[in-house]
Formats: sequence, structure tokens, C-alpha cells
Amino acid sequence: MNTSAMPTAYRGRFAPSPTGPLHIGSLVSALGSWADAKYHHGGWTVRIENIDPERESSESIIQILDSLKAHGLQWDDDVSYQHLHSERYDNALDNLRQQNRLFACTCTRKKLRALDISNYPGTCRSLNHPEEDKALRVKIDSETIEFDDLVCGRQSEDVSQTVGDFIVRRRGPLYAYQLAVVVDDAAQNITHVVRGADLLDNTARQIALQRLLNYPTPAYLHLPLAKHADGRKLSKQTGAAPLDDSQALQNLQTAWNLLGQTAPKGAMSSCAAFLTHCAAHWDRQRIPTHPLDFTQ
Ligand code: GLU
Ligand code: ZN
Repeated sequence: MNTSAMPTAYRGRFAPSPTGPLHIGSLVSALGSWADAKYHHGGWTVRIENIDPERESSESIIQILDSLKAHGLQWDDDVSYQHLHSERYDNALDNLRQQNRLFACTCTRKKLRALDISNYPGTCRSLNHPEEDKALRVKIDSETIEFDDLVCGRQSEDVSQTVGDFIVRRRGPLYAYQLAVVVDDAAQNITHVVRGADLLDNTARQIALQRLLNYPTPAYLHLPLAKHADGRKLSKQTGAAPLDDSQALQNLQTAWNLLGQTAPKGAMSSCAAFLTHCAAHWDRQRIPTHPLDFTQ
């Protein structure tokens, strides 16, 4: 594996949760983030987001990495694993605690659901529950967060209105995705986050955390999601087929096509040859803004 330092001007990443094998929707994200990085002569890293042992397996990690390799999607530095990053996450939590931004919450999901509002109403903010065995939330002030997504355009959200004080450490304790992703993107100097549009509405929360932790905000590009013919998001839960690694070139061509990109002239003999085309011809302007119909 190439362990030389990645170029710093552009650092992208693919950050799968190892809850099952990759499917064509995940390949769209992997290829999109790879091509955007390579077109810009940047580095591309793979981060395994394994912070929830109940949903994940080491078998999936192996499958995912094997599948990326089979498709010729080579990462530029060592794969990183979130389960090894507890210290960074604890430091970030300490930082928030010192700013008096953290509080333990005892509200059950059921109780919050019964309130019928989307944002956490601040119930436990000043109750000073002991932290042990409790979820920890971060206090969010009212502020309109604006960012320009490179595909979806200008976004604007007041997190205090949409979700309110959100969870950064779950009971368990388990680190929450929002915390882990923000801490790691900063620690890994990620400059461009290219990922599926299902995460577009998490981005304002992530920017809010970056501001509290004094981290830079990367550029964001959300790729359209692949959907089943009936409109449901393609996912393991909806029965998306695992990628067949023996059909790697064909899978890459399908993903490239779904991303609205131009096919090479003439037949391609290998994944490597096709990926060379992808790195040279990636065009953000061609990325569709609507969900991708995947009916094969
Ligand atoms: N691990 C997340 C997922 O598989 C993606 C995180 C991200 O790209 O920010 O949905
Ligand atoms: Zn509460």
C-alpha cells in the first residue's frame, strides 16, 4: 500500500459504515468521491465508520475493502478505523464540556416523540443529570447556517429549529455519527466531503459542531441517491444486491452512467483503463440533481 503523504490541497474520503457489502448505490458514492478527488489531483482516503458494534461486522469491513480493490479504487494512505479514535472523540467532548455545551439527557425516544415536534425542546439542558449511562447532547444556539453544496446549491438551516440540541454521545456509551464524522474529517484534514444526498440534511449540524470546535468547514458535494423503481432508496434494508466483484468493470460503467458522466469512446479493457478515463473526464456540472433510477 502506498503510505506516502497525501497532497494537502485536496483531500477527499469515502467513509462507509461496515453494516454489509457495498451495493451499486455505495459504488456511486465511492466512485464519485474518488473521481472528484482524482480530477483535482487530490488524495482519496477510506475511513471505516465502525462506532456501532451491534450493527457492524469485521466480515463487512473485509468485503468492502476487497470490493473497492476489485474495482480498482485504490486509497492513497492507510485505511482508518473509527473504533481506534476514541481518544480524539473524548478530547472533542472535553472541549465542548469546558465550554459548558454538553449536558446529559434522560428523555426517552417515546417521550420526545409524544411531543410531536422535530427539535429537542431543551428539557434536560439545565437539570445537571450525572453523565454516566446517559446520552450527551450539545447545546445549540439559534443561528442560520448557510453553505453552498457543489451540486445541490445554497442550503440554509437553523439547527436549533430543525433538530435542536442533538446527541453527540449515545448511551452505552457510543460516540454519535455527527461527532465522529466531524472530528475525523478535521483530524484527517479532509477538504472535500463527497457523499450521498441522504446526508445533505446532516451537514448543517456538522457545520455547527465544526464552529463550536473551531475546525475548518470542508467543501460539500452531495451525490444523488440511487433509488429502486418504486422510489425507495437503494440500501441493504431495501434489499439492494451486493456488488458482484467479478463484474467490476461493468459496475463502474453503471455507476459512472448513473452519475451522468460521459462514457469513453470505444470499449474499455480493464477497470484501470476506465478509471483513467473517469479521473480525466469527471464533470461536476453533469451530476444529476434528481434521484437516480436504478432499475437493473
Ligand atoms: N458512514 C456514513 C454512511 O455509510 C457516511 C458518512 C459520511 O460520508 O459522512 O452512511
Ligand atoms: Zn432530555
